[in-house]
Amino acid sequence: MIPIVKHLSKSLKPKPDQEKLEFGKVFTDHMFVADYEEGKGWHQASIIPYGPIEIDPAAMVFHYGQAVFEGMKCYRAEDGRLLLFRPEMNFKRMNASDERMCIPYIDEDFAMEALLQLLKVERDWVPSLEGTSLYIRPFVFATESALGVHPSRSYKFFIIVSPVGPYYKEGLNPVRICLEEEYVRAVKGGVGFTKGAANYAISLKGQEKAQKSGYTQVLWMDGVERKYIEEVGTMNVFFVIDGEAITPSLTGSILPGVTRDSVMRILKSWGIKASERRISAEEIFEAHAAGKLEEAFGSGTAAVISPISELSWGSRNITLCEGKTGKLAGRLYNELTGIQYGRIEDRFGWVKEVPL
Ligand SMILES: *Cc1c(COP(=O)(O)O)cnc(C)c1O
Repeated sequence: MIPIVKHLSKSLKPKPDQEKLEFGKVFTDHMFVADYEEGKGWHQASIIPYGPIEIDPAAMVFHYGQAVFEGMKCYRAEDGRLLLFRPEMNFKRMNASDERMCIPYIDEDFAMEALLQLLKVERDWVPSLEGTSLYIRPFVFATESALGVHPSRSYKFFIIVSPVGPYYKEGLNPVRICLEEEYVRAVKGGVGFTKGAANYAISLKGQEKAQKSGYTQVLWMDGVERKYIEEVGTMNVFFVIDGEAITPSLTGSILPGVTRDSVMRILKSWGIKASERRISAEEIFEAHAAGKLEEAFGSGTAAVISPISELSWGSRNITLCEGKTGKLAGRLYNELTGIQYGRIEDRFGWVKEVPL
């Protein structure tokens, strides 16, 4: 394995007030970085003081957008242990994203080792207040200084970490969502299944439009027929119709969420029917009209579970669960956060303790 060298900071920053933590605003004392060069592979891995880096203006990432990222969290259990939730899935997905973007493979054991070493250095930054965590952002981007569209011959791989507050300050907070009919996020054959930076640039316009109309997030529809549900901004989505929890199947245009997979497995373990299939907007609105749409929610690392209280589609508008958190959404939130914070038994073997 590539050796990881440490150059630690001599002066540490003051830790932020845990009560006032937001999302992704504060970064810790150190970061992990490794370089890639054609012919040499990944090398020069180090943990160094957090700070600005120097990049050539011709670096290909600025022009052709060859960049991917990941997102996961480190949770502090009541007994002080630091826990990760299915982190190997994130590094596997990072490589799936890299592969699609012609970015070289990063050994997953090496990436995990880099993360564990960084977390060991930054362990005092993992907050302990209810609902707080240390958000982990691995990312890779093209650094070759050259114009002309081709895969870069050099890259950098970083991991930065940020203490974050609970996503919703007052616990589970239902969100209002609108279906987007004008813009699309992804199509089959494209890069929708990756956490490629491009996907998020593409989504901004629709997101801005939704927020201007008073909605929290966009619900994307398929880019071909504009009929089928895909996912929310940075969350996968579930609809509970007549006792069955349905989430759109992974056909290449949807991000395969770690939380999505975990929700499916928990639901099945509870004996609840959980299906991955195509689901149209029409089916959802018809189910609502027939009184069969029980609830809907989003799933993702940042918010864990996000109940949907209102759904708008053109001139049609429906309210779910009288604007409150649905039964299943609440139960799933408690189960997932219980496992993540080590409060309840890790019956699926999902938790990885950070060795300190
Ligand atoms: C990150 C992300 C998700 C959720 O994935 P998790 O692994 O559950 O955090 C869903 N959709 C999009 C577009 C995302 O970027």
